[in-house]
Amino acid sequence: MAKKLPYFSKASLLLLIQLLAIQSGSFTNAERIPEISKSLKDLEESQKGQTVQGLREVKHYLNKYGYLNYEYSNNFEEDEFDEAMEIAIKAYQTFFHLKVTGKLDIDTIKQMSIPRCGVPDIMNGSVAQPQFSFIPGKPIWPFNKHNLTYAFVSSTGPNVNVHQMKAAGSYAFREWAKISNFTFELTGDVGNADLILGFHRGEHGDGLPFDGPGGHLAHALPPTNGRLHYDADENWTVGNTVSRNQIDLRGVSLHEIGHLLGLGHSQNESSIMYPSIKEGQKKRGLSSDDVDGLQSLYSSS
Ligand SMILES: [Zn+2]
Ligand SMILES: [Zn+2]
Repeated sequence: MAKKLPYFSKASLLLLIQLLAIQSGSFTNAERIPEISKSLKDLEESQKGQTVQGLREVKHYLNKYGYLNYEYSNNFEEDEFDEAMEIAIKAYQTFFHLKVTGKLDIDTIKQMSIPRCGVPDIMNGSVAQPQFSFIPGKPIWPFNKHNLTYAFVSSTGPNVNVHQMKAAGSYAFREWAKISNFTFELTGDVGNADLILGFHRGEHGDGLPFDGPGGHLAHALPPTNGRLHYDADENWTVGNTVSRNQIDLRGVSLHEIGHLLGLGHSQNESSIMYPSIKEGQKKRGLSSDDVDGLQSLYSSS
């Protein structure tokens, strides 16, 4: 005889099972990778030797962030999971401290869906560092150039106002000034500013197009270029409270200024130079890894 279920009717039990199935399922819409249009569900668990429609876009993603280089092959435009892709996925999993399977497993796909900086993790074939890293060639600002001026020039409006944008920038510059010989000064003389910060949307003229909400959040160029671009389509906030669907403009500014000064990405998750930042995640201040990185860059060159 079937046991009686005192608290649930059959219908509500069925609903509960369905809800649990949805929750324990692999993906939600929020875990979509903006840079990859294919349904992630279809790509999950794909591995070497398989051909799955959409793998081509994952290759583009891995290539964009420095993990995959197809200089001498036309496989870049194929949906085939080849050996180079497996090597790239292993390098990606190593960087983000995931289990190194070489497969497109759920943890790897979830990591790819976290918003991040557009600057590659690996540049010119350099090996990713366990801690801070430099931009290849170690570009730095000259030693007689430690007073840097900055200005804001945007081609489109973000969801934060000019005052909030300036407050976030000034906070982030102050943090870097505390641990270095640099001083940063806002200038109205845009033509002569050393650093230009601004919000842009989609393709904006530097070959590093933005991708709408999520995914690629911002990028900055190494010394002495001085350009820092934010994706105007993100749901930015400058507040002390960062809600679940918001991106922390102060934290991202801290990160991008690190690039302006010559730092690359760090695998150290507590470092401000770690490449990804979750929606709702708040990052404030520099870690010892960031401080060591900048001080080492400007003392050893
Ligand atoms: Zn970055
Ligand atoms: Zn740009």
